[in-house]
This record gives sequence, C-alpha cells and structure tokens, in this order.
Amino acid sequence: MRVLVVNCGSSSLKYQLFETESEETLAAGLIERIGQDGADAIVHHLPAGRDEVKFEQPIADHNLAAMEMTRILCEGEGKVLDSLDEIAAVGHRVVHGGEDFASSVLIDDAVIQCIERNAALAPLHNPPNLAGIRACMKAMPGKPNVAVFDTAFHQTMPRKAYLYAIPRAYYDELGIRRYGFHGTSHFYVDGRARVMLKEMGRDGDSARIVTCHLGNGCSMAAVKAGSCVDTTMGLTPLEGCVMGTRSGDIDPAIIPFLGATQNLSFKEIDTILNKKSGLLGLSGISNDMRDVQTAAAEGNTDAAEAFEVFCYRVRKYIGAYAAAMGGLDAVVFTAGIGENDAKVRHRILENMEFLGIHIDPDASDESRDDRVLTTPESSCVALVIGTKEELVIARQTEAVCGVA
Ligand code: ADP
Repeated sequence: MRVLVVNCGSSSLKYQLFETESEETLAAGLIERIGQDGADAIVHHLPAGRDEVKFEQPIADHNLAAMEMTRILCEGEGKVLDSLDEIAAVGHRVVHGGEDFASSVLIDDAVIQCIERNAALAPLHNPPNLAGIRACMKAMPGKPNVAVFDTAFHQTMPRKAYLYAIPRAYYDELGIRRYGFHGTSHFYVDGRARVMLKEMGRDGDSARIVTCHLGNGCSMAAVKAGSCVDTTMGLTPLEGCVMGTRSGDIDPAIIPFLGATQNLSFKEIDTILNKKSGLLGLSGISNDMRDVQTAAAEGNTDAAEAFEVFCYRVRKYIGAYAAAMGGLDAVVFTAGIGENDAKVRHRILENMEFLGIHIDPDASDESRDDRVLTTPESSCVALVIGTKEELVIARQTEAVCGVA
C-alpha cells in the first residue's frame, strides 16, 4: 500500500511517500518558505535513488503547496507515480491531541473540530497541521486522511504523573496538565528496543525502558511493558530536558522575577525561554550540539558548561525514571544528538554501574545501525536506535484504514 505522510509547519510542508509492505521510501520532499511575503518558496523533492529536484517559486499558502506536492509526485523529472490514484491514504502528523486521542484516527469533521479545540494548547502547531489536512483533502479529494498525534503515546500516564500541583480547576476547566510530545518517536524506539532485548535473550515484553529523544527538541519517556508512565515534556514542549534553544525545567518564579526586574512582557519571556535559552542561551555560541562541542574543545568554558548542563539533566531524569518504574532494563538514545553523539552518551552514562549499566569499551560506536553499548553482563542495556517517525505514521495510517 502506498501512503503519503505529511507534516506541516507554519511555513513548511514536509512529505514522504512510502510503500508500506517493503517500508521503502519512494520519494521525500520539503516545501519551505510558504506564504512569505517577498520571498519565493523553495521546493526540494528527492525521488528515491535519483538526484534532488530543487526549484523556487511563489507559493502563497498550504493549499497551493499541497497542489505542488501532488504535481511533482506525478509529473516532470521527479515523477514517481503515474497517478494520484496509487496513493491509498494520507497520514498527518498532528502535534496536540489533548485528552481526546490516545491513538491514531481517521479524520472526519468531528476530528477536525477536536484538533481545532486543542489548538488552544498548541497555537503554533495545530493550526498549520490542520491547514495541511485541509489542503490534502482539497488536493486529493476522496482519499482517507489519518491523524497521528505526538501526544497519543503518553496518554497512558497515570494521574500522579500528569497532574501539576496547582489549583485543580486549572486542570478541570482549562486542561492544564502534562501531555508529552515526540510520542511517535518514543513509541517506535521503545518497540524496537523490546525486539532487541528479546534478540539478546532478555525479557522484552515487561521491560522498564527510558527512551531519550535528543534532537533540537529533547524529551524522555519512562515506558513500562510498552506503556508510557511518565515523560519530561509538559503542557507544551518547553518542559524537561535542556534543548537547542529551549530552557527545559526552570523555577516558574523566574518568569515573574524577569517580568518585574527586567520589565519584560509574557510574550518576551516566552520568546526568551523557547528561542534564546537551552544550548544557545548557555553557550552563547549555537543551538547546535556540534558547534557547542567544537567551541568547548577550543577552550570556550561557557560552551563546555552548556554541554555539562545538557548531559546532567538527562542523567538526572534517568535516575528519576528508574525510581518511578522500580528498576531499569534499558536506556535508549535516539534523534540527532542521541544517535550521533558518542560524547554526550558517554557523559550521561558514566558511573552508572549502580543501575547495572556497564559501558563496553570495545563496543563499536561508529556504526549507523541500531546498536548495543553495554557489556553482556549489564543488567540494564544501553541502546542506540535510529528513530523512524514518518514510518510509524505510515504504518498507523495503514492500520487505521484497515487495508493492506
Ligand atoms: P530535530 O529535532 O529538528 O529533528 P535532529 O534530531 O536532527 O533535530 O537533531 C539536531 C541535533 O542533532 C543538533 O544539535 C545537531 O548538532 C545534532 N547532530 C546531528 N548530527 C550530529 C552528529 N553527527 N554528531 C553530533 N551531533 C549531531
């Protein structure tokens, strides 16, 4: 079955066309700078095994971007389909499903209304996700569209993990609670870790696993027997780990303190915490871990400290989640930093023998494949697993549509 996966941001549309049986990508693409006054959009289209097709043209909105996507898939030098009829369904990444969605769903008017309602919780993400859904419905009329939510995997968290200790009415009336994000990634790497544990002769089914998604955005999840029991991100993707530009956990009293002493508005403080903090804020160099490490190696002490704060926060949550689950069978690293940065992984895991984690000095860490970092004697294994969020969306779209 051919499934088109679509992920829309405020000025971008990312897509990937899958053949789900073989899990092959037939084409992938990105249309960026949609609807920017005075600048053409840039279209990147990569048909599998061929050269990238790249061009610029004005694209005013997501409707026109979806039309352009369907055109490139079927016409011209990047053509991979004879007709759109070959696409069986479209899967959409939707950031916030609130408490309405614990799994992926076929999109109808009621689902659209729910996503609209949840836009109050994710004003930057749900509206462009919805624009993408509507654009695909228009560009490919009659095709089933499926919503796959970033929050859904975390809906199994118990109340004690998701309630904030603020007046109850804010949860009851406004829905203020921990939701968690990156759910498709945590779901995928947790499932893959269970398979790898079984291949190692261990109990994968009931394993207690901490999944660390460390990219530009960073989040961790405590997953027991396949169900999420806690996660670091909260009402929004700002809480928890140190990220590229996001602060992660801070004392909430910092917000009124900054407002009062620096005469900053809520909007300005929000921008500082989301866009100017994290690795960028602490290092003063970059939001990119590679640049931070290069500067640290050249003797920049602010960059070295940013690296330490980043790793320490992850380490602290591993300990917290081991306590939450009553033990730990695996720690998984994924996403840009988690998959590629051995220095970060080693700093996080050093001196964790008390948790049964013994890093194997001979384990090859150069491979691009999913791999094990710990010795066979370790009671808790450390794994590196490449995340496949788009593939999860394609598989779930196929499952929801009920056609193979
Ligand atoms: P996003 O959350 O935007 O999908 P990614 O998962 O691509 O981001 O992660 C981006 C982060 O991964 C950046 O901090 C970048 O420095 C880091 N990264 C990517 N490749 C490498 C690498 N080879 N070595 C170390 N860090 C890397």
